[in-house]
Amino acid sequence: MGGYWYYILALGIMIWSFVVQITLQSKAKKGSTMPSNMTANEVVEQMLREHGISGITICHKSGDLTDCYSPRESKIYLSDTTYNQRTVTAVAVAAHECGHAVQDHEGMMIYRVRQFLAPAAGICSNVSVYIVMAGLVVAAIAEHGGDIGYFLCNLGIIVYLVTFLFYLVMLPVERNASSRAYKDMKNSNWVDESDMKYAYKVLRAAGDTYAISLASSALTLFRLVLLRNSVKGRRR
Ligand SMILES: [Zn+2]
Repeated sequence: MGGYWYYILALGIMIWSFVVQITLQSKAKKGSTMPSNMTANEVVEQMLREHGISGITICHKSGDLTDCYSPRESKIYLSDTTYNQRTVTAVAVAAHECGHAVQDHEGMMIYRVRQFLAPAAGICSNVSVYIVMAGLVVAAIAEHGGDIGYFLCNLGIIVYLVTFLFYLVMLPVERNASSRAYKDMKNSNWVDESDMKYAYKVLRAAGDTYAISLASSALTLFRLVLLRNSVKGRRR
């Protein structure tokens, strides 16, 4: 029964992910044909200045969608389609990354939690799968291995919760960076008023990709629980 639901949900998330990717690409493309009143770099400089932030450098990072804020290096990386570009998409993306710098500067709690969890999230994601797999193997081959297998599966689930928590925290952090970007864009003249709805659509679609990451992570958690429950039946 659980396995049946797993496949239904997996299919649903796959379709949703496909729709969001297409939407994001088309909105970003549309916005990149619309000129803005300032370049992405000028927008970052002004936004940082207005929030009283200094000491952050803007760097170019080759590739598409490679934009990010690195608190460790105090750098904002802008990709090929953003760096020095004068388009609605470039300004929206740059302002979003700058939004992270503002979160960091203000010491926003949820942002700090995300930063704290970030290094562990990837490791825990991999390790948890190995622990659960070990649990399944032990339960299957060792004599009276059911209890140990069940314990290992539970351990793997607990380890995976760190990854799940990371994605859970990431979504509001990303939405908040976008809403800061949108607010500052609205209060300035970086983009014409009539083009703001396109900037909003780009930010909205980019944010949806994090909702998918969260849903996928929840699905993995569900899968691990199903695997654990398959051991349950074999416990003595
Ligand atoms: Zn972001």
